[in-house]
Amino acid sequence: MVPRVILGGGIVKGMIETARNFVGSYTDASRLTTVEYPEQRIPLHANARQFPFLVFDGTDPMAGLRCVACQICEKECPPQCIYIIKDSVKKPDYLGKMQMQPKVFDIDLSVCMSCQICVEVCPFDAIKMDTEFELSNDDRFAGLLVNKHQLAKPNSHFARIHPAEAAEVDGRLAAEKAKAEAKARADAEAKAKAAATSPPPAGNPSSSPPPKS
Ligand code: SF4
Ligand code: SF4
Repeated sequence: MVPRVILGGGIVKGMIETARNFVGSYTDASRLTTVEYPEQRIPLHANARQFPFLVFDGTDPMAGLRCVACQICEKECPPQCIYIIKDSVKKPDYLGKMQMQPKVFDIDLSVCMSCQICVEVCPFDAIKMDTEFELSNDDRFAGLLVNKHQLAKPNSHFARIHPAEAAEVDGRLAAEKAKAEAKARADAEAKAKAAATSPPPAGNPSSSPPPKS
């Protein structure tokens, strides 16, 4: 028995679908699969990722950098495209704790493979994946080697491109900060209470008995 298969049936089906999209695109916007780039752009998905950037808090990019130059991302980056030199001067982090900071933080984006491993290993939520992809330039010497000033972007940028992830990080950091502040307050109160109840040290004139008359 000859199988009832139309030779070239797949091609015919494909052509019918193409014709439906061609004709339908004049009346149904959802059938338009292309846009007039760069004037028109398809909205990027929240999970889109291109290359890393460094997150900073506040308004001063260098003072607010979350990066503490621990160099974990540098060690874990598979193609070794991150280059960090620690600064000799420390600065306070979001908890007010003095931390190291990078003197140099470069990434060669022409080598980066957008794997996101640097983001996953960073214990400080200091490096995140950007969605920017229009990075080509005509500088044949610097190319796509970018420094910390070019990499620094505000937390508001992170919240705009990855809202759910940024909200989770903001909530966690705020909780950690509130916990640290509560502990600092409790420690200060306990210290003040201990100072008020402890006997004055020996030799203190105020503790000597009054002179005999
Ligand atoms: S995304 Fe991957 S390749 Fe690019 S800097 Fe991070 S770890 Fe390296
Ligand atoms: S980005 Fe994160 S992992 Fe990399 S050096 Fe800075 S704090 Fe460490």
